[in-house]
Amino acid sequence: MPGNPVAAMTIPLPIFCREEQQDTPADGPLRDTFGRVHTNLRISVTDRCNLRCRYCMPEDVTFLDRSEILSFDEIRRFTTVAATLGVTKVRLTGGEPLLRRGIDRLVAMLHDIPGLNEVALTTNGTTLSGMAGALWSAGLRRITVSLDTLDPETFRRVARRDALADVLAGIRAARELGFVVKLNAVILRGINDADIIPLAGFARETGCELRYIESMPIGADSWDRKSAVLAEELIETVAREFGPMDLVEGDPHAPAMTYCTNDGHRIGVIASVSRPFCSQCNRIRLTAEGMLRHCLFALFESDAKSVIRFGTDRELERLIRRVVWSKWEGHEINSAKFVKPTRTMHAIGG
Ligand code: SF4
Repeated sequence: MPGNPVAAMTIPLPIFCREEQQDTPADGPLRDTFGRVHTNLRISVTDRCNLRCRYCMPEDVTFLDRSEILSFDEIRRFTTVAATLGVTKVRLTGGEPLLRRGIDRLVAMLHDIPGLNEVALTTNGTTLSGMAGALWSAGLRRITVSLDTLDPETFRRVARRDALADVLAGIRAARELGFVVKLNAVILRGINDADIIPLAGFARETGCELRYIESMPIGADSWDRKSAVLAEELIETVAREFGPMDLVEGDPHAPAMTYCTNDGHRIGVIASVSRPFCSQCNRIRLTAEGMLRHCLFALFESDAKSVIRFGTDRELERLIRRVVWSKWEGHEINSAKFVKPTRTMHAIGG
């Protein structure tokens, strides 16, 4: 399967998992063997994207055939069962979720699932200005937009496409409608690290909450630690410009550490590499073609699509419990044991 970034190992759970299966909890919250309770489901609704961000996917990519991806009714069924197990928050991702026709209809379908108290969405913003109204009418209120630079040339270097103006227009349209907008910026040394301060300025100006993301070894391009701008350097750089920042207590399960400047502006840092937060992880992921992953960096995954299409809700429940129970302690990025997943980010959904 070399060369096909979508292919990942699809195997029945390994022996050690199967043994653990014997004692997979049959009821109660969605807990793993480290005591973490899972309440957050990330659903990739497509692997397709109209950008080619170098930290996410290769230029040349074979997208899934439409027949392979889950229908809205299948996504709703899976989410409904997951909600009975304690999932309270869903984040829709991609590829680029706004490329999925009728995405606003899916948002509305998920909104009235009992037990779910939040549906959010992460987008690259390129088509947001045209979609914001429909998403708002569907009940969406929180949106995260990827924005790595304010410079068109740098945008082209990172995303390998020209679309910065569309993204900025999308952010403004969402703000005008009243969306709570978070901005995610992956900072790559020597490519967009000059944008660290301009992005913070833009977030202030537009009333968005900016989160810097440490680049991770999960994209198409080779990754080395030196290319990542890590949390300490990011915080120092911002503090030099905007003054001292205090760490804000918040949701212990949230991936971002949030800081607040003296004048009340919040800035987040998602430090997967330098300050891993796996011990508080409450997330599971469903890929566009219905593979269930217990971790972004998981090396194996389970086929939920077959159970969604041919199984009972009880069987779906058991599968979800089994995958969570088999969850490892966390990524091994900082250890010699680290193995890069075969899937690239666009085929998992951030
Ligand atoms: S790397 Fe895996 S275990 Fe760690 S926080 Fe991310 S999804 Fe959770």
